[in-house]
Order: sequence, then C-alpha cells, then structure tokens
Amino acid sequence: MDKLNKRLRFLAADFAFAAVFVLCVVLCVLVYLYQSDVQIRQQNKIHLSIAERDTAYISHDIGLLLQNIDHSLRTVLDTAASKPIQTDTLLSVLNNAPYLNSISLIDPQGKITVSTSAGNIGRILDLSPCPVYPQSSGDLFRVGPAHMGYDFSDGTPLTDNAKSTPNQGFIPIIHTRLFDTNEEEKTLVATLDIGYLLHRIANVPDTLFPRIALLRSDGLRLFDTMQTDPALLMFERDTVKRWQNGEFSGARELTAIDARHLIVAHRRHPQLPVGITWTVDRDKLLKDTVIKVQRNNMTIMLLMIIGMTCVLFGYLFFRHANRHQRERLSKIEAQRSLLESSLNACANAIVITKPNGIIEWSNPALTTLTGYTAAEAIGKHPGILTKSGKQDKAFYAHMWQTILSGRVWHGELINRRKDGSLYDELLTIAPALDSEGVIQHFVATKQDFTQQKAAREELAIAHSHLNAVVENFPGSLIMEDLQGRIVLLNQDVFELLGLPGTEEYVLGKPVHPLMVFSSRVAEDSQVFLDHVEEMRAAARPSYGEEIRFKDGRWIERDFIPIRLQENLIGFLYIYRDISQRKRHARELWQLATSDPLTGIPNRRAFFESIERERARLTRYPGEAAVLMIDIDHFKQINDTYTHAAGDAVLCHVVRQARKLLRESDMLARLGGEEFAILMPQSNREGALGLAERIRKVLEETPLTYNDVPIRVTASIGVTIMNHTDPSADKTLSRADHALYEAKRNGRNRVEIG
Ligand code: GH3
Ligand code: MG
Ligand code: MG
Repeated sequence: MDKLNKRLRFLAADFAFAAVFVLCVVLCVLVYLYQSDVQIRQQNKIHLSIAERDTAYISHDIGLLLQNIDHSLRTVLDTAASKPIQTDTLLSVLNNAPYLNSISLIDPQGKITVSTSAGNIGRILDLSPCPVYPQSSGDLFRVGPAHMGYDFSDGTPLTDNAKSTPNQGFIPIIHTRLFDTNEEEKTLVATLDIGYLLHRIANVPDTLFPRIALLRSDGLRLFDTMQTDPALLMFERDTVKRWQNGEFSGARELTAIDARHLIVAHRRHPQLPVGITWTVDRDKLLKDTVIKVQRNNMTIMLLMIIGMTCVLFGYLFFRHANRHQRERLSKIEAQRSLLESSLNACANAIVITKPNGIIEWSNPALTTLTGYTAAEAIGKHPGILTKSGKQDKAFYAHMWQTILSGRVWHGELINRRKDGSLYDELLTIAPALDSEGVIQHFVATKQDFTQQKAAREELAIAHSHLNAVVENFPGSLIMEDLQGRIVLLNQDVFELLGLPGTEEYVLGKPVHPLMVFSSRVAEDSQVFLDHVEEMRAAARPSYGEEIRFKDGRWIERDFIPIRLQENLIGFLYIYRDISQRKRHARELWQLATSDPLTGIPNRRAFFESIERERARLTRYPGEAAVLMIDIDHFKQINDTYTHAAGDAVLCHVVRQARKLLRESDMLARLGGEEFAILMPQSNREGALGLAERIRKVLEETPLTYNDVPIRVTASIGVTIMNHTDPSADKTLSRADHALYEAKRNGRNRVEIG
C-alpha cells in the first residue's frame, strides 16, 4: 500500500512536471510569436515614419522645382506687357533652368509661336486635358499630362493614365496670363525633363527604394519611378479622394488587390495642383527584417529548447538519481531489516555496545541467556549485569586490551544470570571499526556454554579412555579416514615397523607413505600393497591375514571397515606379532607328525602323505611304491640288550635306510619297530630294488652298541599304488600282507603284494 502511494506520488510529480514543461513550451512559442509580431510592428512603424518623412522631402523638393519653373515663366510674362516675347528672352530663362527642355509661347489657339526649340514652332497644343488652376495673381496654371520624347517636336502625349512615364519624357508646365487690357492672353509652356526629376529624386537619401509617383491633383499620373503597377490604381484613386477631402498627407499599411502588403504614403503640395504617392512592398522590405527577427528568435528559441531540454534531462536525471537513491535506501533498509531479523532470530545472545562498553542493542536471546530484557540491558554496562566475580581483574584487563587494540577477543567465562545462578559463557567480542579504523562499537556474541563444557569434559574423558585403550591394545592400530589420512594409531606401530617417531608425528598425515614403508618391511611388498588396495575396495572385514616379514617375523593383520550409523568413515588395521605363536604351532605340528625317538615322520604324517599321493595319482595317472619294514625278532633284542639298545637299533635302521632314499622318498615310523617308505613315481623294479638294498645293508651292517655288535635284519613288504586304488588303507593293507608273507617265509626277505 505504501509502495502504491509512493508510486502514485511519483506519477503525480511526473504529470505535474510534464504539465509545467508543456506550459513553458507553449509560453515560449507564444512569447516567440508575440516578440516577432512586436518587432515587425515596430519595424512597420519606423517604415511609416520614414515614408512620411520621405514624402515630405520629395513633395517639398518637387514643389520647389515647380514653383521655380512657374516663377521663371511668370517673370517672362511680366515683361510681355511692355515688349513681345522673343526667343532670346526664353533662351536666357532656359539657360538658368537645366531641368527644362524648352520654353515655348503659344497663342490662344494653342499654336506655338515662339520656342527655344525651333522644331516646336507651329505645333498646336491641345490644352483641354489640362485643368486650369487659377492663382492668386489671376494667372492660370496648368500641369501635364506627361509626354514621351524630348520635346513637343518629337513627343506625344501620354493618354493612358495607367502607363508609367518613360525615362525619356517631359511634363508640360503651363502658365497663362490674362491681361486687363485688350491684349490677348499669353501662355508659356515649359517642358520639365523627367530624367532630371528622376535624377533629383534619386538624390534624396532613401534606404527603402520606394516607388514614387507624381500625380496631378485630379489623379492624373505625371511621373512614376517604376513601371506601371495596376495594383496601385486603387490606392491612387483613394489618395485623390483623400486630397479632395482635405487630407493632404498620410502614411499607412495597405493590402493591394493582388494581396500584397504595402506601405503607402502620400502628400499633396499645399499650393500646387500636384502631389506624390510613395509605395513600398512591405513583404520585400520586411524580408530581411523578418529573416533577421526569425534568426534572432530562432537563436532564442534554440537556446530555449536547449534550456528546456536541459531542464527535461535534469528532471529525468534527478528522477533517475532519486529513484536510484530510493532503491538504494530501500535495499539498505531491507538489508538492515534482514540483519536485525537475523540477529533477533539468532540462538546466540548478541549485544552491541558503544566503545565505552555501554549496551546499545541486544537481541531476545540475551533475555533467554541472562534473564535481562533489552530494555533492562540498554544503557548499562555488561559487567554490572552479569559479572560473577569468578574472573580476576587481569582476565578483564587482557580482554579490554585485546578489543581496544582492534582485535577480536574470544574466550570462556563464568557469568551470573538475573536470578543469581551462574553459567558458563562462550564470549566473542569483535570491534566494529569505521573507514578510518576508529572503533565505533563492540559486537559481543554470547553462548551458554554450560552443557557444552560438561560435554567437552565428558568427551575429553572418553577420549583419554580411548587413548588408553589404543595405547594398551595388544597390537598395532592404524586407522585411516576415507581421504587416506591417519586418524588413529598407537606407539606399537612404530615398534612393529622399526620406525623412529611418535604418534603426533604422523597423525593427520596421509597413510600411504606408512603403507609403502610397511610393504618394504614385508617379504613380498607388492602382495602387501595389492592386498591393502583390494580390501579397501571391497570394504569388507578381513581377519587373521598372516604376513611374513623380511626379518623372519610373522605378523597377523585384521582389516576392519569402520562404519558410523551405516556410513563408512574409514578403515582400521590391526597388526599383531604372531611369530611366537607360529613357532609354537610349528613345534606342535612337528610333535604331532614326527617320531620323537628317530625324528622321522610318524604314522599320522605318513598316512597324510600317502593320501595326498593317492589323490595326485588320481589327477595325474602314474605309479608310486609303498614299502613296509618290520625289524625281525625285535622283542629279543630288547630282551637281550636292554630297551635302550632296542631304541638305538631303531635309530640305526633309520640311519641306514635314509642313506638309500631319494629326496622325494618319505621314511616314516608307523609304530614300535615298524617303518614305511613312500616312493612317489616308482615302479615295481625300483621299489623292489630299494627294498632289497635296505634289507641287505641292514643285514650287512650290525649296530655296535656298548662295544657289542647287534645284528639287525628286517622283513619288507612291497606294493605298487596307482589311481585305481580306492583308498590308502587298501594300499597299506596290501603292503602289510606282503610283509606278513615275508615274515612267514622266513624273515630277512622282501615280498611284493
Ligand atoms: P617278529 O620277528 O615276528 O617281528 O617278532 P618281534 O619280536 O620283532 O615282534 P613282536 O611284535 O613280538 O615284538 C615287538 C616288540 O617291540 C615288543 C616291544 O616291547 C618292542 N618295542 C615296541 N616299541 C619299542 C620301543 O620303542 N623301544 C624298544 N626298545 N622296544 C620296543
Ligand atoms: Mg612288529
Ligand atoms: Mg618285529
């Protein structure tokens, strides 16, 4: 809602700015138009005053010229009363009037009788188109119409009033005197050179180059500085009407019938029947002014546009900057709000203090921790609220020294709650510095550490128990984590491997170098390492793996993958030195499988061997021989030479038989004075040959016991074993039967069965 209101406010501001902006633009345009109009009006006013001034000048000048001519003619006529007018008289006047082409005298019938131009004499002038203007002296005055040509001799009257006077032409100025006497009237005609008039008008300083026309008071155009302009006829007619109505001069603006805008002026001479009109094309006249005004105004307009554009861009920039600022402030506010919410939601108590330690802000967790509300805490020193007296002054001094130097202090202390109970607190105080490194606040994070402290102590005890177990464990322990780092081992490992160093030296280090070292100690390094890799990959327990070390020791290894709630976290290796056990086992085995008197394998060992050989023959068909040897009349030897002598005989038989055996042959004592020989890969001949050689060597080699020779003979039963024998017992039974046959047939002989 608030956001919507803000948006509406900004929309309103934009609309107001747009309205003011448009209003300014409209005002600028209006000022521009008004200014143009005012300037043009002022210019027109100036032109009108110029027109009035010019018409006054020119009218006065032409008037003076005409009066001068008239005066000259009157002077001549003054002399006419006493003597007739001669050409010379006229010439003398003409010589003083360069603007006249000729002066002529005409009789009442209009005929030129005397003239300064001989060509004029005799010509008849029609004076009817020339209205008479009586003068105060009683003379008559006439003007025009204008003629083309230089003089009457070559000139023709201009009858068409609309036509302009040609450059070469003249205007007749006529003066008639009526005498009182009987003398007939005399009329002088002077021809005023239009070229002179043009020249004279041209000399009048004028910057507007108007069209100037000389009119007779009845409207007849006598002279015109430009070509005929039909559009002006109406103006000329209007001017004559004004003259007739007594308005002798004036200037104004006029729109011609062809829609041109003109500035016009007129002036009628007060004494003469002539006047002038003055016209100028206002549009042409104002063209430069308009261009100038437009240019000036365009410059102003351009400046205005630039100004307005600057204002517009300024507004947009301001708006953008404002918006940016607003968004920034809004973001900062949102961040601040988020931070405050986060701090309020934080499980740890957070206290913000001034540099002098006075609390400025705290979160609800402080109340949970200490019992003090934020309102109670703010403005107070934390020490006053929670100091328990359990820490000495040096503790706090060190804390203040740390944080005042701009560093973070972290530690544990015992504080007191509002209800007076004590608790362990984990406290972190961080100084908040400004951009210049000056401490502005301290931010303290407090955590109830009571339970954790107890748990930590319990953990430490548990850890010490574990260490004790590990150290007292009867064997070497190594545990690696899944990253292959050693996480547990005991001192026995170093003794096992003959390594210098202690547990701390390798804890946390990779286990691989230790394994490589172990493998070098082992008899077969590669097998050692390969098996470790296999066990790791399989991650299955493996117990009792026996490893032979190069130094002759036997080591037993257990491999146990360690899991924590079904998750594999590492591998435990347990190494035990089993050399002694191995030795005992070997001794026991020897005891179990050998005859203690003679040292050769006993009955059990022989049966195992014969069983193995039978199995081998089943797989690889062939033959083996079994000999059974029984000492003849052994009881008598015992009885005759004592039991010890009997034992010596037994050993003697073994010695003699052994000399004749192959490496692969096996001699065993089956019991009492009975022996057996297993001869792998032997046939009937080989077996009988050996049996005979044994019988013979015994017969021929008596034992000397206590310097007494004891004769020893033996009976031997031979049998051949192959893969068809169903069992070892069956083979032995055949050999036993053959032995029995040898006994029965007289002893000291060999029989085969
Ligand atoms: P025969 O020619 O038929 O084989 O007669 P023999 O006397 O050799 O056979 P008999 O089975 O009658 O006697 C075997 C004797 O061997 C009986 C026993 O006292 C003796 N004897 C058995 N074991 C030992 C021993 O370890 N040491 C000694 N000295 N005598 C033994
Ligand atoms: Mg016997
Ligand atoms: Mg015997």
